[in-house]
Amino acid sequence: MPVIAVIGAQWGDEGKGKVVDLLAQKARMVVRFSGGDNAGHTVVNPYGEFKLHLIPSGIFYPRVVCIIGNGVVINPSVLMDEIAQLNQRGVDTTNLFISDRAHLIMPYHTLLDGLEEESRAGKAIGTTRKGIGPAFTDKAARLGIRAGDLLDKEVLLERLRFVLDYKNTILTKIYGASPLSLDEVYTQYCQYGERLAPHIRETTIMLEEALNREELVLLEGAQGTLLDPDFGTYPYTTSSSPLAGGSCVGAGLGPARVSRILGVFKTYCTRVGGGPMPTELKDETGDLIREQGHEYGTTTGRPRRCGWFDAVAARFSTRINGFTGVALTRLDVLDTLPRLKICVGYKLDGNTIDYFPANVAALGRCQPICEELPGWQTPISHIREYEQLPLKAQQYVTRLQELTSCPINLISVGPEREQTIMVSSIL
Ligand code: GDP
Repeated sequence: MPVIAVIGAQWGDEGKGKVVDLLAQKARMVVRFSGGDNAGHTVVNPYGEFKLHLIPSGIFYPRVVCIIGNGVVINPSVLMDEIAQLNQRGVDTTNLFISDRAHLIMPYHTLLDGLEEESRAGKAIGTTRKGIGPAFTDKAARLGIRAGDLLDKEVLLERLRFVLDYKNTILTKIYGASPLSLDEVYTQYCQYGERLAPHIRETTIMLEEALNREELVLLEGAQGTLLDPDFGTYPYTTSSSPLAGGSCVGAGLGPARVSRILGVFKTYCTRVGGGPMPTELKDETGDLIREQGHEYGTTTGRPRRCGWFDAVAARFSTRINGFTGVALTRLDVLDTLPRLKICVGYKLDGNTIDYFPANVAALGRCQPICEELPGWQTPISHIREYEQLPLKAQQYVTRLQELTSCPINLISVGPEREQTIMVSSIL
């Protein structure tokens, strides 16, 4: 059985949670590999509607082992709340495991996230202020505290004493904020450790065992390709790699083990926070897509910026991830639109270009060159066979497939599991 990486192909919120929930029916393991609780998946299934921030979307299947991989940064309090909420609604979480190498979000990370954003004033990144960026910064700066450290109180105290001293200097001397108490933070994280200890493991061994047993493993992405720190719209990016390449590092397996890379695209584009978005619609059509698609953040409730499908960005995303197939979501959101546009190139300073510029200032000046297609203007959420889709919807999908040069494996026509059209085999 293969390993399938499920990757956000745009700016996040593509519907990865639904796709993973669907594919997890046949999986044995789901590993979340990047981001933190700034990401959020909404999953609608027979248990009800759930908003997950850290726990992999496979948690609803008792036989599926869910792993929060080393590439994720974990806020223990958020994780414990999420576990409690799932348990209250009858979802078992005994099969949830946390990599002992995953870094923790500490109280100074959340404080610094807010203070740093405020100091950027007009140049704020639009972070969720949940401490994700500062936690990844500390990981790279070798100042991080990891889940495994919670299992040894002496190690934790020694590490915390060293790091907190340094962080308190920054909080007080640079930002004029109050220092944090070592005693309080230590006691709080010892309590978290006691609660989370049954879940903390060397998870790569579990992963290897599943691979050796030839079981289906899903690598669950968070955020999207265009937010990658290397390939996204830097500096308006996230802090860990949401790419297929990042899935190996963040889950703990070698690239040759990944057999399929499924890119999840919406049939249009959305973006939260700052940074350029060439196809953004600041008009009634943008508002209509937002309302039809309920395009408000799972984690923050922030309205998402909406725009036409950007095939230039999509080709770029396909290239750097090496997608073997596409899951196209939210086709139903376009049901009422009389005309649809697809961006097929950019006009940049009088020249036509067909690539996604690295420079955000240049990307910000790009004007989309669009093709126009007729809308189908009829509901499609009940449809389960590709051939039953209105011809105009098929034409739209075919054009997206041509432009991304990647086979479309499935089309999602609604939030629920069964509101899915299987077009071709993912495997
Ligand atoms: P993720 O982080 O990529 O999982 O995306 P989000 O959970 O932030 O946003 C996806 C939203 O779209 C969720 O509310 C899903 O229930 C919903 N969704 C997923 N697929 C479809 C679809 O095909 N049609 C509609 N209308 N909603 C969908």
